[in-house]
Amino acid sequence: MAMQDADQKLANPAQLFVISGPSGVGKNTVAHALCQRGLATRAVTATTRHPREGEKDKVDYHFLSERTFSAWIEEGRFLEHTEYVGHRYGAPISSVNEAVLSGLPVILTIDVKGGLQIKEMSEDVTLIFLAAPSEEELKRRLRQRARGDDKSAQQRLNRARQERRYAKQYDFLVVNDDLDLALEEIAEIMSRRFPSGHNHS
Ligand code: ADP
Repeated sequence: MAMQDADQKLANPAQLFVISGPSGVGKNTVAHALCQRGLATRAVTATTRHPREGEKDKVDYHFLSERTFSAWIEEGRFLEHTEYVGHRYGAPISSVNEAVLSGLPVILTIDVKGGLQIKEMSEDVTLIFLAAPSEEELKRRLRQRARGDDKSAQQRLNRARQERRYAKQYDFLVVNDDLDLALEEIAEIMSRRFPSGHNHS
């Protein structure tokens, strides 16, 4: 099958904002709110895990089979990919390029290793680390979301401790304490790094 260059090359790195941080810190909440306010758009990532109730293919994730996921790796269609709690996750270049067409800042929520890999490919990409106000609060948010899945919650907390070490290499650190303040801070970072993406009056 003929590969399109558009699926293998990032269109406009300066338009891309990677948001990383521990599971439960509020990455999805923040990304969702910024999109709702018309301040950003999201790139749809890919995974081999099964959809949870209510999740839609190509909206929440590209839900791929193991086989297709491997083929996409072979074809160089991912910006980065990783394995986490038994499933594979990746950021397709095509997803970012599609989102770029909106003219808005593009948000990619991925782990720190993935973020740093992308930064190596292009300096113009902005890395934002979202941190919790405290470990206690992070635990509370994880519990609130966990729905009794304790084992996975513990795995997520362990990983959060590991990830914090990488935060120093990120361009910006935003503490997600008061949600509105965090949103303001991120919107401000976006308009500074990608001025043409905003039409403030
Ligand atoms: P992540 O995407 O980083 O794993 P989520 O966006 O799913 O995290 O948020 C985890 C939980 O924390 C959710 O229940 C969410 O409503 C809550 N949450 C997110 N941001 C805040 C905040 N600033 N203050 C309080 N609770 C928050």
